[in-house]
Amino acid sequence: MNEPESQIKPAISANLKFAAKLLREGRLVAFPTETVYGLGADATNEQAIARIYAIKSRPSFNPLIVHVADLAAAEKVAVFDDRARQIAKRFWPGSLTLVLKRQEKSKVSPTASAGLPTVALRAPANEIAQTLLKLVARPIAAPSANRSGNISPTKAAHVAASLGTAVDLILDGGACEIGIESTVLDLSGDAPYLLRPGSVTEEMLAAEIGPLQRASLEDSKKPRSPGMADRHYAPSIPVRLNATAIEPGEALLSFGPHSLTGFTAERNLSPSGELIEAAANLYGLLRELDWPGFQAIAIMPIPEEGLGIAINDRLRRAAAPSAGVDAKLAQGQGKDG
Ligand code: AMP
Ligand code: MG
Repeated sequence: MNEPESQIKPAISANLKFAAKLLREGRLVAFPTETVYGLGADATNEQAIARIYAIKSRPSFNPLIVHVADLAAAEKVAVFDDRARQIAKRFWPGSLTLVLKRQEKSKVSPTASAGLPTVALRAPANEIAQTLLKLVARPIAAPSANRSGNISPTKAAHVAASLGTAVDLILDGGACEIGIESTVLDLSGDAPYLLRPGSVTEEMLAAEIGPLQRASLEDSKKPRSPGMADRHYAPSIPVRLNATAIEPGEALLSFGPHSLTGFTAERNLSPSGELIEAAANLYGLLRELDWPGFQAIAIMPIPEEGLGIAINDRLRRAAAPSAGVDAKLAQGQGKDG
C-alpha cells in the first residue's frame, strides 16, 4: 500500500507517553482496543471532540463511546444504579458499552454524547488502551478510526489507509483480538435495551439481569441509538449475503469447508468454521475483497448463534442498499463510522 504510514508508531512505552501528552493537548491519537482501532480524543475537550466528527465526517447527532480505565472512573461520568454496577463488575474490562444517564457534574463534552442526557461508556480490556487511559487520566472518546460508514479498522495500516495524515499519531498494537465492535447495552431506562450485538452476547447479559429488549432494524427509522444506520460497515462494491452459488465475476467470502466454485477470488473467514476466528478476520478480509474489479462480494451463510449474531448484524448493514432511510446521510454529512 502507498498510504501514508509515517504516523504509525509501535505501542512501546515511550510512544505511549507521547500519545498521552498529545491527547492531553487536545490532539487525536488512534489506538488499538480488543474490538477495533479507536480514534481517540480527550473526552473533556470540546474542540478535540469536534475534530473527531470532522475527520470522520460523522453526523453530529451520532454520539461517541467514551472510554475509561474502570468502574471508578466511569462513575464520575455517568450515574450507576445496582444493575449497571453489577453488569460493569461482571463484564469490564471488556467489549461491552453501557449507555447510562450522564452525571450532572460530568466534565465530558456534551458534543461527545451529541447533546443527549445519556452517555455511552466502556472500559476496554486491551493492555495498550488501558495503559493509555491511565497515563491520560481523563476519559477518552473513541469511535472507530475510519471514515463514517466504511469498514472498521482492525490493524494500524487500516487506520492510515482510511484517515491518512488527519490523525496525529497511530499506535500500532497489531491486529485486534475480537475484531468486531463492542456490544452496546442501554441501561438508562427501566427496561434494558440491546442496541448493538457484539461478543458479549444477549444470553450472557440476560443471565445477569433477565430478558433484554432488542433494537430491531425497523428502529433505524426512529432509532433508540442515533448511529443505528441501515447501511454501515460497508465495502465500496455490492455485498450479497447467504450465497449458496456464485454469480459471474463475484469474489467469495467463505466460512468453513465448502464445495462452491466459479469465484474470481476467495477468502475464508474460518476454514474450520469457528465464529471467534471469523469475527477476528471479518473486516480485514472484507477489505481484501473490496476491489472495483469484482462484481460483488458473495458471502456464505453464517450461523445465527453466539458471536454469529453480531457478525450477521454487521453483514446485513454492509449489504444494505445505500438508498432508503439514510440516503440523506449518504449524500450529506456521511454516516456513522
Ligand atoms: P461507534 O463509536 O462508531 O462504535 O458507535 C457507537 C454506537 O453507540 C453508535 O451506534 C451510537 O449511536 C451508540 N451510542 C453512543 N452513545 C449513545 C447514547 N448516549 N445513546 C444511545 N446510543 C449511543
Ligand atoms: Mg464505527
